[in-house]
Amino acid sequence: MPTGFLHIDLEAVAANWAALDAMSSSDCETGATVKADAYGLGAVAVAGRLFRAGCRAFFVASADEGMALRRALGPEPRIYIYYGHMAGDTATIDRADLVPMLCSVDQIARHLEALPRRPFGIQLDTGMNRLGLKMSEWAAVAELALRARPVLVTSHLACSDDAANPENARQLARFHEMTDGIDVPRSLSATGGTLLGGDYHFDMVRPGIGLYGGLPFSDAEPVVRLDLPVIACFDIAEGERVGYDGTWTARTDTRIATVAGGYADGLFRALQPGLDLMAGPVPCPAVGRVSMDLIGVDIGHLDADPETFRVLDAHRGVDALAAQAGTIGYEVLTSLGGRYHRSYRGDE
Ligand SMILES: *Cc1c(COP(=O)(O)O)cnc(C)c1O
Repeated sequence: MPTGFLHIDLEAVAANWAALDAMSSSDCETGATVKADAYGLGAVAVAGRLFRAGCRAFFVASADEGMALRRALGPEPRIYIYYGHMAGDTATIDRADLVPMLCSVDQIARHLEALPRRPFGIQLDTGMNRLGLKMSEWAAVAELALRARPVLVTSHLACSDDAANPENARQLARFHEMTDGIDVPRSLSATGGTLLGGDYHFDMVRPGIGLYGGLPFSDAEPVVRLDLPVIACFDIAEGERVGYDGTWTARTDTRIATVAGGYADGLFRALQPGLDLMAGPVPCPAVGRVSMDLIGVDIGHLDADPETFRVLDAHRGVDALAAQAGTIGYEVLTSLGGRYHRSYRGDE
């Protein structure tokens, strides 16, 4: 038995990609961000399905991720690297035909010297202060860099999950200031910016989280379902405690189910207190601390011992679970355990 059963709906991922694609005009390409193993869902499976749906631009963080994706997808799609061209990556970029998104003056120099005939893109910083050339750096090197014909110029929005945040318009204005008039395709938006409307789309959008059913794409189709098997059920008496440190005490005689899955599987300790697991339609409170690979559940109110509990589905998505733990859906997804048995709908 695995610790849990994770079902990933690739048809829903493809539908979410198509829905985001339909929001931008036909001259705007819709790529897909599949870094961190497609946010924990499996980059090879996800990118393979999106390739079949028509996606030809994939974004990952590291050159190693890019190499794995190239092996899976073959020569056709463009694979962009958000870390750019790091020292030591030259051979990988060359062999796997990756497009480094150069993010500093040093990286531009490195790339043009090491791989002068290989395609590259450029990342500009418009206010997030994470990666990308600042206004003054860009002013100094733009002419030289543009002569080498970058295939894409991008920036990234820091606050696009909040449509009302004035920082979005400030970054948009700065992106225009830095790139208007250049003859290179431009991309500013991930999921959040795609939802902000046409002004933010330029020539390419590159959503990630929205593909996987997460906020801010509130109309996304749900993608993941997670069930945990029950290992043992037993009665306890009023006054007995459950779990490490005995943080929970039974107020009446009751029955406990101990289920497989714990913080090593991405079910954070911070989910407690207050986590419910679902036995069919009936919520059952998790009790005591979440252990590394076990969780206790009070089932005193059930007629029969359940075989599994549902943790994630269309009714409770990654954002609801994330809120319970004080984090975001991105972190729940990327923490999903490597020990789960994974099954896919829509895999070839
Ligand atoms: C992760 C990332 C994306 C995708 O962001 P989502 O919010 O998941 O859509 C796009 N661009 C950059 C630079 C990123 O780091």
